[in-house]
Amino acid sequence: MLRRLLIAGNWKMNKTVPESEEFSRELKNATARFKKVGILICPAFVALKSVSDTIHGSNVNLGAQNMHFEESGAFTGDVSTSMLESAGCTHVIIGHSERRHVFGETDDMLNKKLKKAIASTLTPIFCVGEKIEDRKADRTEHVVGEQIEKGFAGVSADQAQKVVIAYEPVWAIGTGETATPQQAEDVHAFIRKQLAEMYGREVADKIIIQYGGSVKPSNANDLLSQENIDGALIGGASLKLDSFVEIIEIAEKIDK
Ligand code: PEP
Repeated sequence: MLRRLLIAGNWKMNKTVPESEEFSRELKNATARFKKVGILICPAFVALKSVSDTIHGSNVNLGAQNMHFEESGAFTGDVSTSMLESAGCTHVIIGHSERRHVFGETDDMLNKKLKKAIASTLTPIFCVGEKIEDRKADRTEHVVGEQIEKGFAGVSADQAQKVVIAYEPVWAIGTGETATPQQAEDVHAFIRKQLAEMYGREVADKIIIQYGGSVKPSNANDLLSQENIDGALIGGASLKLDSFVEIIEIAEKIDK
């Protein structure tokens, strides 16, 4: 397998600290038997350290949902990559559609965040995706292409290999509506082609491109079996142990 599948749970603003600890303890036990698939959970900031202690030594990795591009200073309410590292994180989500569209984060801010994460030990998960009006106007490739071009401005080929991309069509996030496997694969193939143009085929082939948008046990196999879909970034279905473990198990069995 060229790329290891990565199944990530984005808990968003859900679960208290004790709930996060309990879930991660159960997840750690339920996933100890899996050898191939990469597993990641992204709790709220306040739960990071205790979840890190809970999952220590297991198959489960820890990510944050956001970060600031500065190292320290007067940025009330924000956290730096060093803080996330010190809490035990190995990954950080950047530019989730809620950050772009609810909190108004711009391509320029996300480019700064991506470069800062690359300079740290964290693996950035850089999110892109079109809105429904873009898809209806046949502008999906234009929008996603521009998000990647602007987001990766100034990022070298060597650095780009460190980044995970998550393609998350905005119309499919939290709506129950999923891109069909073919719709998702088409955009993933487009993203990989664009990465090949920017960084060469060898680098593009190494970059993990996750799909996100109402992934659940019933659609995971068809999505994850696509050639260019290398994992999933999961919201709703990652909040319940059964459905999250079921998706991880499906990914573990996929051979491509
Ligand atoms: C997400 O939060 O990134 C996401 C894809 O959510 P959901 O799986 O609920 O659509």
